[in-house]
Amino acid sequence: MKHEYSYYFSEVVKDLKPSGIRKFFDLAASMEGVISLGVGEPDFITPWGTREAAILSLEQGYTSYTANAGLLELREEISKYLSTRFGVHYDPTNQIIVTIGASQALDLAFRAILNQGDEVLIVEPTFVSYAPLVSIAGGKPVAISTSPDNGFKVTPEQLEAAITERTKAILLCSPNNPTGSMLNKSELEAIAAVIEKHDLIVLSDEIYSELVYEDEPYTSFAAVDGMYERTILINGFSKGFAMTGWRLGFLAAPSELVSVMLKIFQYTTMCAPHMMQHGAIEALRNGYHEVEAMRASYRRRRNYMVQTLNEMGLDCHMPGGAFYVFPSIKSTGLSSEQFAEELLMQEKVAVVPGNVFGESGEGYIRCSYATSMQQLQEAMKRIQRFIKSKKLVTL
Ligand code: PMP
Repeated sequence: MKHEYSYYFSEVVKDLKPSGIRKFFDLAASMEGVISLGVGEPDFITPWGTREAAILSLEQGYTSYTANAGLLELREEISKYLSTRFGVHYDPTNQIIVTIGASQALDLAFRAILNQGDEVLIVEPTFVSYAPLVSIAGGKPVAISTSPDNGFKVTPEQLEAAITERTKAILLCSPNNPTGSMLNKSELEAIAAVIEKHDLIVLSDEIYSELVYEDEPYTSFAAVDGMYERTILINGFSKGFAMTGWRLGFLAAPSELVSVMLKIFQYTTMCAPHMMQHGAIEALRNGYHEVEAMRASYRRRRNYMVQTLNEMGLDCHMPGGAFYVFPSIKSTGLSSEQFAEELLMQEKVAVVPGNVFGESGEGYIRCSYATSMQQLQEAMKRIQRFIKSKKLVTL
């Protein structure tokens, strides 16, 4: 070849940085005896009934493609689930696509709506995939910073200030990864007014909607007055149903938007795996009590983590949902990368440095509590020892 490989790469891909989470965890994986509070996935195995349905599907020979948008039977179950759980109504025949995880739903949504240079507002600290996906689709990610002073919640004023004439969409993620912050109905309504005024499209990533721990019911953004017509609702089975490895998610939106996303999907993917879809039907029909049991377990662990971190001098706000805590490590004087690296080397506890979630994540670490209580207790002991050894915090 006459050229270096990089000559052949697209400019967009050249500029993408590898995920900071992966880089860090490759290091942790090469060490022994590490307790990982790093991974963003449930510690539960998918409930048996769901697994059995997928096994049965294979046994019965369901090895073909399905309809592009997914089995109608599954879309009907998703439609029922969305309406009973969140009060939002979608026609299973033309308003839902079963995707390869929420990840693919996000990709489809950005590709469907973005032209070169269109701006997308992203609330930071943020899930690591959003900005790269916007860039891949030709758009420009625009970050809005939040802090614990406001519970890591974006305000209508911040939105107003970030909007330009190129702004086309906003991505909302509630409960949020990495902060766990959740927006309640009135907070969503206040944001909705700005969105309406500027005629934006909303991508609402509701992947953690089953993992909420306060008494107040969860509000889907599509259920907020006037928002249904401009919302692409993104959800899936990975988190609430403990099905990350199944790679099944879905999106729901007005049919005009769905038909454009379906065009991309049918050329790039064809359909989600047939037997996995049978498992998901069973999860929705008969597996909901297991979701509730997992939620109760996460709630106990969240409460333990927040209390323990605060007691050891790492300020930690109470997250409304997901399975992450996002304590401040500013009192230690270390950067979040230094803290995470030294903690890993000295005490073999892996956490994610907050700066991988955007600039406003600097000064924080993300700890996932989707791991056993015993492991969490041991990890907290080690973190406390780490802080004391460094005389970082005066207790
Ligand atoms: N959105 C958020 C906020 C996430 O945290 C994740 C997974 N870490 C995803 C989407 C992707 O989930 P899936 O497994 O459904 O692709």
